[in-house]
Amino acid sequence: MTDLPHIRTVMDFMRYFNTDEKCLAYIIDLKFGKDGWTCRICNYNQYTYLPSHESVRCNRCGHEESIISETIMKNTHKPLAEWFWAIYTISTQKTGISAMELYRQMDFGSYQTAWAWLQKLRLGMVSEDETDKLKGTVEVDETYLYSGDEQGRSLKGNKALVVGAVEVYKGYASGRVFLREISSASAANLESFVKDHIVKGSTIITDSWGGYNGLKRFGYNHKPVRLNIPEDASKQLPKIHIVFSNLKAWITGTHRFVSKKHLQNYLNEFTVRFDNRRNPIEVFNDVLKLLMFQRSRTYEDFTEPAHPYYPNPKHIKKYYKETPKSNWKYFLGWTAIIGGTLTTLYAIKKISERKNNGGTK
Ligand SMILES: [Zn+2]
Repeated sequence: MTDLPHIRTVMDFMRYFNTDEKCLAYIIDLKFGKDGWTCRICNYNQYTYLPSHESVRCNRCGHEESIISETIMKNTHKPLAEWFWAIYTISTQKTGISAMELYRQMDFGSYQTAWAWLQKLRLGMVSEDETDKLKGTVEVDETYLYSGDEQGRSLKGNKALVVGAVEVYKGYASGRVFLREISSASAANLESFVKDHIVKGSTIITDSWGGYNGLKRFGYNHKPVRLNIPEDASKQLPKIHIVFSNLKAWITGTHRFVSKKHLQNYLNEFTVRFDNRRNPIEVFNDVLKLLMFQRSRTYEDFTEPAHPYYPNPKHIKKYYKETPKSNWKYFLGWTAIIGGTLTTLYAIKKISERKNNGGTK
């Protein structure tokens, strides 16, 4: 894979990916690594791009291979450059885009297709990397997202409880953010959130809620602040309260309604948008990779009860790894181990029997 292009601005992006050939070359880079494309029939490595077939054709034997089959881009008959532009805009712009807006702008077949496309993009936005845990001084607090008129019609259905963490820097700056929907503010829920997203040894500032009392046990430097009235929260824990109010404004402003069932997916998307320090081209790259390597998913994939919404980013791994480990390999492995052990035990038994027999003779 070639290095990431140095793209800092929208204009850079448009110059870099202004033709389908350039986009295709980039996809081939992502897909086939530094060796590039090789014909699976004759091993030749020169090809011709056939835009109307969304495929490449071997220049020696004529074998044709689809580049975007099994991806969300197949059968859409949109130029790749247009796709690239849409993915870039959606994955990097601060406010994001609603499914309705995307449906109109990209001329999707249906609203549902646009919606499924966005859900997929959101899944591509969460880092699963251990090194991306928050560190230093971190504020942690919970907030309710309400339905109805209480706080701006943000959620369809019930109110939802969300725990959030944000890195605190000196002055006005905030660092990275994690958010998770939780069933209650129990110690178990809060502790598992902290352990999943914050490096041990970090300083954690919370209110004096008892659910946080156990954090010291897990190696955190816990500093609870005492709030005399609830309004103190925004003064004592200012950074996380800015995150919460941005989150509420974003949900109401861009999406108007978010169902509770899909809330975590939206929280993940917000997390990425709030992270100013990430280079836009990295975000674009991650999302593009996800789109290239996983099969095209439909509206039903996200709404079908058998595949419920993945409750937190850790679970995405489970559903979205390209090739699940096949069970037969485990089966063979265990058979070999158990078989080997039994044979050894049998052999030992035989030898000791022979020795005993030898002794009596
Ligand atoms: Zn060939």
